[in-house]
Amino acid sequence: MEAPSDRSLMVDNVLVLLLDIEGCTTPITFVKDVLFPYIKEHVHDYLTEHWAEEECQADVQLLRQQAEADAQLPGAVAIPCDGAAKQAVLDAAVASVLWQMAADRKTTALKQLQGHMWRAAYACGEVKGEVYADVVPALRAWRAAGKRVYIYSSGSVEAQKLLFGHTTDGSILELLDGHFDTKIGAKVEAESYKQISAAVGCPASSILFLTDITKEAAAAEEAGIRTMVVERPGNAELTADERKRFQTTSTFSLLH
Ligand SMILES: [Mg+2]
Repeated sequence: MEAPSDRSLMVDNVLVLLLDIEGCTTPITFVKDVLFPYIKEHVHDYLTEHWAEEECQADVQLLRQQAEADAQLPGAVAIPCDGAAKQAVLDAAVASVLWQMAADRKTTALKQLQGHMWRAAYACGEVKGEVYADVVPALRAWRAAGKRVYIYSSGSVEAQKLLFGHTTDGSILELLDGHFDTKIGAKVEAESYKQISAAVGCPASSILFLTDITKEAAAAEEAGIRTMVVERPGNAELTADERKRFQTTSTFSLLH
């Protein structure tokens, strides 16, 4: 195992840190054990409370269109048309959301409603973003050293800002220089990292990408970006080969 000083040295020449979220800044269980259960438990109350709002009706309309497209799938729930009794439509919308989530669907209709529900949940403090204890001190140290910090996650930029804007320690958005999601490209494609390098105006060789996924690290390296694979509790175990091939760390506190 490398001495911590070697890792600090590695970060010395870095101008930009690029951070993954799940399994890196945040427990991999946060989405699975906090965000998704929140939707299942509150979707009925949320729709009831916001039903009259235009945004909510647009969410329901999108769910209805998705249900029509899914009509042939086993277990799919149809949503009655607009003119039907409110409670029948609402109950069907709830059932449709629960079915989509059970089937692990990634539809725009589902994501849009989830995004609106999480926005409300963060705003009222019902949900708080989790970051590991070593994250905020590292962000402060890196920025004090003149480095910039960006996020790159498959969660939307809006979802990223909600998480970091409402953590258990309050908002830490002011410690971040910017956000990227898959609009810039998939996380396993080298091209995405070239685009990010160009977007932040920093040569790839001066960027360090921290992620828990070795496929993402390999893609970043292909683009000339330095990487370190983060091993947090609950992450998928690295193989012996992966451990040989990639630099690894279990905490950000060794990196400054
Ligand atoms: Mg990750």
